[in-house]
Amino acid sequence: MNRNSLNFSGGPGALPESVLLQVQEAVIAVPEVGLSVLAISHRSDWFASIVAEVETNICKLLGLSGDYHVLLLQGGATQQFSMVPMTLLRGKTSAAEYLHTGYWSGKALPEARREGPVRVVWSGEASDFRRLPGDDELSFSADAPYIHYVSNETVEGLQFHRVLGRDDVPRVCDMSSDFLSRPCEAERFSLIYAHAQKNLGPAGVTVVLIRDALLKDAPENLPGFLDYPSQIEAHSNFNTPPVLAIYVVLLVTRWMMAEIGGVERMAELNRTKAELLYKLLDESQGFYRGRVEPQDRSMMNVTFNLANPEVENHFLAAATAAGFSGLSGHRAVGGVRASIYNALAIAAVEKLMGFMEDYQRSSDRAA
Ligand SMILES: *Cc1c(COP(=O)(O)O)cnc(C)c1O
Repeated sequence: MNRNSLNFSGGPGALPESVLLQVQEAVIAVPEVGLSVLAISHRSDWFASIVAEVETNICKLLGLSGDYHVLLLQGGATQQFSMVPMTLLRGKTSAAEYLHTGYWSGKALPEARREGPVRVVWSGEASDFRRLPGDDELSFSADAPYIHYVSNETVEGLQFHRVLGRDDVPRVCDMSSDFLSRPCEAERFSLIYAHAQKNLGPAGVTVVLIRDALLKDAPENLPGFLDYPSQIEAHSNFNTPPVLAIYVVLLVTRWMMAEIGGVERMAELNRTKAELLYKLLDESQGFYRGRVEPQDRSMMNVTFNLANPEVENHFLAAATAAGFSGLSGHRAVGGVRASIYNALAIAAVEKLMGFMEDYQRSSDRAA
């Protein structure tokens, strides 16, 4: 297996080999145009057809109907941390409700506080972000302008396996690290955002799904670039968009439809990979220690520790020497993180498991 296929990076994440080969070709010339994808006008009919197909494919994959807009924006998920409260919280007196479940939801909080009142409905800080709240720990207010949470905490390896909040308050969700990895009941959300670089493509483009009705009282004086209605009107072409990144997202959605067979099937494959790894952790007799509580384990980011940081560094160096990459935990938490995004094959997980079993055996022998 080549190094690309053993890339367990937390982000930017691995992409399917068949997509990389098509991108390679398109850098020289997109077959149907004869021009490099790096130098095709964003005002061309070709690019308009690419945007339209991305929109259609994402709606098809998620089973979404016509009352959503699909936007392809820049600025990453971080810009959405600001655009959401600018649009939905500015000038409001009742508090937006945020869950603080880990590193990324924590980054969204100060941005929201710049715009208006925020209530943290639940924080995992005291439990070191090792678990998510149960329904009995949550109570949401009917007056909130919206609730915001992160479906998959990429750094800690925590994932919600249900939809949160209440149906009479708009739900906003950062799905950057698990978008299109499983069915997500998208129609229960008013706004979903996901940058491309974990599961969908390279950095540079962020998908935003936004329900029409959410924008009825959007402020009218926002900068055009940061204003959802202006972006909708411009059809994701308000200024020069990242043509290459959007083209790669298109190829990934085609791959999901044609080669994988849709989001349900994608979820089955992702579940298989995650179960294999978690089983290995659980059966390692404490050699590999899962970071989070079993019921909240992520199907995308498998986080674990070894006996101490020194042993972890030795493990990570041995893994790198064996051809694996991207396994070190996020700098905020350390440890080991195996990110098993959509494009990572089951065979790669099996190979990692073989390595981990051997590593444990040789450590046991040395002890
Ligand atoms: C990686 C990540 C981000 C950061 O996104 P940028 O595109 O770098 O701004 C935000 N949210 C989640 C859930 C992430 O995994």
